[in-house]
Amino acid sequence: MSFDYDLFVIGGGSGGVRAARVAAAGGAKVGLAEESRYGGTCVIRGCVPKKFMVYASEYPSMVEDGRAYGWDLSENGFSWDTFSGKLNAELDRLEGIYRKLLANSGVESFDQRGKLADAHTVELADGTTKTAKHILVATGGWPVIPEFPGSDLAITSNEIFHLEKLPENILIVGGGYIASEFAGIMNGLGVKTTQFYRGTQILRGFDEEARNAVASGMLENGVDLQLETNVVSMVQEGDKIRVTDTKGNDTLFDKVMYATGRAPNSKNLGLEELGIAVGSKGEIKVDQYSQTSVPSVYAVGDVTDRVNLTPVAIREGMAFVETVFNGNPTSPDHDLIPTAIFTQPEMGTVGLGEEEAAKQEAIEVYATSFKPMQQAFAGRADKVLMKLVVSKATRKVLGCHIVAPGAGEMIQLAGIAVKMGATKEDFDRTVAVHPTMSEELVTMKTPVRET
Ligand code: NDP
Repeated sequence: MSFDYDLFVIGGGSGGVRAARVAAAGGAKVGLAEESRYGGTCVIRGCVPKKFMVYASEYPSMVEDGRAYGWDLSENGFSWDTFSGKLNAELDRLEGIYRKLLANSGVESFDQRGKLADAHTVELADGTTKTAKHILVATGGWPVIPEFPGSDLAITSNEIFHLEKLPENILIVGGGYIASEFAGIMNGLGVKTTQFYRGTQILRGFDEEARNAVASGMLENGVDLQLETNVVSMVQEGDKIRVTDTKGNDTLFDKVMYATGRAPNSKNLGLEELGIAVGSKGEIKVDQYSQTSVPSVYAVGDVTDRVNLTPVAIREGMAFVETVFNGNPTSPDHDLIPTAIFTQPEMGTVGLGEEEAAKQEAIEVYATSFKPMQQAFAGRADKVLMKLVVSKATRKVLGCHIVAPGAGEMIQLAGIAVKMGATKEDFDRTVAVHPTMSEELVTMKTPVRET
């Protein structure tokens, strides 16, 4: 049987674009459909604009520190218009690059929604159909807001990049990556920021000491972080939103942003009709090679809800191409993924947190918390955390957790050592780079705790 394409990809985000390009570069005939903008969540409404907002929000404290260092600096306010104009131009440029990369590698792209019509056919929104030997679903995820009275008044991370003006105050609901990162961003931009988290500490699942360090840094910076607090209802009152919370308070906010998780973008894709197995959150079920229950259909990235991070989606996409087009069955490696949370203070982490590691085996914990010299000189109270969780039996570093300026950059490098199976003694015999913050990772001599 002959097909229009060797591969048809639905979704032009990180995973889909990479798989399409790599397959096409290897000689496959590839088509791709994207209903929105190329680059997906990461480039258009996630990691990239978020990181620019983090940078923008860090300048006030830099100016303050600069003054403490003897510079005569004045702060003349922040122009949201200037920043968002530049941001939008940059996103347009990046989207253009994505399109060009696809075109240059020979991928034929269609600017419309695609859905599965059968095991080898994609139907585009204009009704045309494209047949393919293999179909890859890479449609990503979408923010979810729980249903409660007034929930339609909330915005999500999709809309936060498109505010016409900065609000005077904002309520951010959730305690995960997105809520905690945006609490720091908004606070840094001078917006009075309140964050509600329903549990006892934000960033559930990460090392407890590191979570505590991030939360105290956020409070120190001025975020009104309210734990064990949730929204009961919201009503519009003029141009403000009145929020009633579980502690019985009624507060007026200009904006309310929900960051209470994301759901796989798997609705109305023709999955059920085709008998493709889907889990309770809507995630497409795949095997270790990203193959669905229909053999010609594969899925990668957030729509499979494995590890929802851009670099992971990219690797899943490349492993798919290696498996299907290069005859080399390859499963993406989901073990020991280093990651950064761009909260203020920033956190970088790889491997097991202390609590999780202690459940599995006997461990030693090496940790130090100190005022970094740059900020201490400027009179800031910020503290840095450097922490290693070490196996007593194998001496391997099971986890590395850093809360510090630049922690994301540091954890990329520490992640290589941890991934290679470095022991505490390997860290110890590495000479310190002085004077840095991360030198503490190779100079901690005595465990602070053992189990
Ligand atoms: P997360 O799943 O990380 O966090 C959701 C948060 O919302 C949790 O704190 C959760 O609480 C809370 N929550 C869930 N349901 C409700 C509810 N009904 N009412 C109140 N609170 C609720 O989701 P995010 O949206 O923050 O991020 C989505 C994904 O995006 C992440 O998993 C991550 O993989 C990715 N991401 C990565 C980034 C990075 O690498 N820097 C940055 C941004 C996103 P509880 O803990 O109690 O369940």
